[in-house]
Amino acid sequence: MQAPPPATPTLTMDGQPDAAPRPGLVYPFEGPPARGHAMEVAPGVYWIRMPLPYALDHINLWALDDGEGWAVVDTGARTDDTVAAWRELFARAPDPRPMTRVFVTHMHPDHIGLAGWLTRKFGVRLWMTRLEYLSCRAMVSDCGREAPDDAIAFCRRAGWSGAAIEGYRARFGNFGKHIHALPDSFRRLRDGEELRIGAHSWRVIVGSGHSPEHACLYCPALKVLISGDQILPRISSNVSVHPTEPDADPMAEWLASLARIRREVPDDVLVLPAHNECFRGLHARIAALERGQHAALRRLRRTLAEPRRVVDVFGALFARPIGDGDSGLLGMATGEAQACLNHLMHLGETTRTLDGEGVAWYRMVAAEPAREG
Ligand SMILES: [Zn+2]
Ligand SMILES: [Zn+2]
Repeated sequence: MQAPPPATPTLTMDGQPDAAPRPGLVYPFEGPPARGHAMEVAPGVYWIRMPLPYALDHINLWALDDGEGWAVVDTGARTDDTVAAWRELFARAPDPRPMTRVFVTHMHPDHIGLAGWLTRKFGVRLWMTRLEYLSCRAMVSDCGREAPDDAIAFCRRAGWSGAAIEGYRARFGNFGKHIHALPDSFRRLRDGEELRIGAHSWRVIVGSGHSPEHACLYCPALKVLISGDQILPRISSNVSVHPTEPDADPMAEWLASLARIRREVPDDVLVLPAHNECFRGLHARIAALERGQHAALRRLRRTLAEPRRVVDVFGALFARPIGDGDSGLLGMATGEAQACLNHLMHLGETTRTLDGEGVAWYRMVAAEPAREG
């Protein structure tokens, strides 16, 4: 089926280093909670940080006062280190109330990895959207399979070398490595649903583009938005095309989701993202993400004055060099570049021609004026 998607967003497409200041954003806390500790960031809302074994080395989880106990949002990747960090937290927790339920924003291993472990340990249910749950089960079932022909053809069309394709074959089927056996049933979260969590009502706001049906949780009374990977303050989320749906236009979904969150969530919320730090300045961040994406599309249009393969446009899109040697990075860059190219295809601005080797060449439609940005 599908290439393992990157667990974490790591390619900054706005061309700014992760640490660059972001105008309009305020980080109200001095730093994240220490390992094994939880920090209250709003009444009954606690920040927990867990280690990750990736380049992006942490994820933020949230504990919500749920009346008779605690609900958690996201769970961390299934690694010995994260399980140990959870045990430290349980040992230190001054509150003896039990866990009541496990919410998961989306299917990526850093978010869902320990959902099966926590739900079984506490005898509670998993709450997530249907497409995220079912997609995750499908992806996990690829574990141990050989890379399918469709996926190899996807890499070949993008212009990968033989060596890079061998690297892909070797790596294929790793998606489930950091996911504990999933619960066999779940409680569906629906877009627009109002959930009672403890004393407050939280609204489910679904976004798409980073993953198929990503749930954000918004509490108007507390003025808090749990944004998952949909809105991150210092890095841009990975928006990729995967080999299972090579003609998808996730960029359109991503941009529509950003616009929708701006419409539905006021600017004065405290944003609790899955990576980096809690921040204020939601609308400024959305505007910056849109600007970065449109600037990338403009650079892409310029480079497509001449016919280019997917691997030829990395320099126009990404700040860092993408080599042939790291098939994980190459896969991520290919998925993101393909998302930008497919978006221009869907806008009718670009044509694609396959050569005799099965490699796709993209080029701007002659004399077509740019319609965006
Ligand atoms: Zn993530
Ligand atoms: Zn993610």
